[in-house]
Amino acid sequence: MRIRTLGRGSPPQLRWRGVVSSCPALIGPRRRQSAAEAGRKWGPGQSSGAVRPRGAGRGAEGAVLAMAALWEDVLYNELVIREAASLAVDAALLGGMLMRTEEEPNASDVVNYAPFTLLPSAVPSALFEQAYAVQQDFNLLVDAISQNKEFLECTLANTIKVDDFTARLFRIYTQVLEEGLAQSVFLGINRSDYMFDRGADGTLALKQIEINTIAASFGGLTSRTLAVHRQVLKTLGKSEEASHLPPNNPSKGLALGIAKAWELYGSQSAVVMFLVEEVQRNIFDQRCVENELWNRNIRVIRKQFRDVFEQGSLDDARRLYIDGQEVAVVYYREGYVPQNYNLQNWEARLLLERSRAVKCPDIATQLAGTKKVQQELSRPGTLERLLPGHAESVARIRATFAGLYSLDLGEEGDKMAATAIADPDWFVLKPQREGGGNNLYGEELRQVLEKIKDSPERTSYILMDKIKPQPSKNYLLRAHTPLKVSECISELGIFGVYVRQGKEMVMNKSAGHLLRTKAVEHADGGVAAGVAVLDTPYLV
Ligand code: ADP
Ligand code: MG
Repeated sequence: MRIRTLGRGSPPQLRWRGVVSSCPALIGPRRRQSAAEAGRKWGPGQSSGAVRPRGAGRGAEGAVLAMAALWEDVLYNELVIREAASLAVDAALLGGMLMRTEEEPNASDVVNYAPFTLLPSAVPSALFEQAYAVQQDFNLLVDAISQNKEFLECTLANTIKVDDFTARLFRIYTQVLEEGLAQSVFLGINRSDYMFDRGADGTLALKQIEINTIAASFGGLTSRTLAVHRQVLKTLGKSEEASHLPPNNPSKGLALGIAKAWELYGSQSAVVMFLVEEVQRNIFDQRCVENELWNRNIRVIRKQFRDVFEQGSLDDARRLYIDGQEVAVVYYREGYVPQNYNLQNWEARLLLERSRAVKCPDIATQLAGTKKVQQELSRPGTLERLLPGHAESVARIRATFAGLYSLDLGEEGDKMAATAIADPDWFVLKPQREGGGNNLYGEELRQVLEKIKDSPERTSYILMDKIKPQPSKNYLLRAHTPLKVSECISELGIFGVYVRQGKEMVMNKSAGHLLRTKAVEHADGGVAAGVAVLDTPYLV
């Protein structure tokens, strides 16, 4: 069990109690318990899943040091590292771990390798297993939220007053509900991301950073990282270690979900449409999923919002046609940030949502993945109300929550804003955005919060406890970048896929993992944002 004690090493806001839901639909028996406590306290028989990594014999400090010291025998041997790096880059290129270049993001004439770590990074096996074990619960939860109009309305009511992007999504959501949904099959592909939070006593706990319910990427390229790292370890004389890297092939699992939705749509001649961005640097990641579908004789087309606006149409039964082809499934790898939309693109989005095609995700599921929803889930009683009769799922989910706090106007938000301004290093300030590079930390967090603390604008943000992982050393391999040891931290993502038909879950699976690693000096940012690199977990 892992509970931070009050006092030294504890965020100051824990001394303040009394956070309950502001949403009448969610207020159950009033409990004098803070959101922070809800994420940390455990009843009898429940476990927070915190572990001591192997090597804990030397005490708590020794345990994290053992994790940090992985590969130390080769890490500083310049000759060996240079050779391994050169081999690794060639293996990445040979194995198809590719990205288009920044200069030519829409052509494959010249491509490069996707950035990656030279060596796999240590991941505690118990936390790895915990992350897999909770994925089906998260699938259930996201699906339940997407069907709960009252919860979405209540939770996002204040956010949509100040955040235009969420408001527009929400407007489409209400519009399609009013018209009546044309499809009863739902396909969810998500990725739940975690970091390993290091407690003052040396224990490590799995803490969710966020869940991505739209355009969750790197399910394709990550399986190729595994083969590269296997080869690197072998050349370093570590064949035994190489054989222990866990197998991973998310694109196959994602494709199985898409194929199931396509099958339930029920038209052999209909296609799967990948809705893609204008700038397509990460096309190879998507091709991995596409190819899995082609292998199953399912036709795939790639279109942009502009194509949908210009060529898309619905027939009387709201079947979606584009270029004369009927679309069974729309798989969004686009549409998750305001920059993806102009007026025409919003119209195209509405057309897709109104259509009979299975949407991955539908707009309700996209809203279920907002940071505001994530924050509301951490309130006492909310998970229980969303997943009645699923006490074990609720316990597993809650074990992964870090402290999350509302900044809505009112006493609760005032106190949290003041607490974060006084101690910014304990928190992350998050707007309702995706894709990396949007969060605020430290002094910048303090300045922004100071400026907006009395304005409704603050309700467009949430506050989250800052996770403090154990750094380890590695080499980040990136084109045109000198080879040097970096102090790194990792983020583990688990892919989830589910298909629901009416009330029946016909598929609910975890589909593989993604480990991303970045240098500690970057507080934020993913692989696409140019900060993190692909990695493989080495279980310890
Ligand atoms: P986005 O939707 O932009 O990916 P995230 O919530 O995943 O937003 O945050 C982006 C990055 O910021 C994460 O990948 C992680 O590196 C860092 N981050 C987010 N939340 C926290 C946190 N609570 N503690 C420490 N780092 C965080
Ligand atoms: Mg993220």
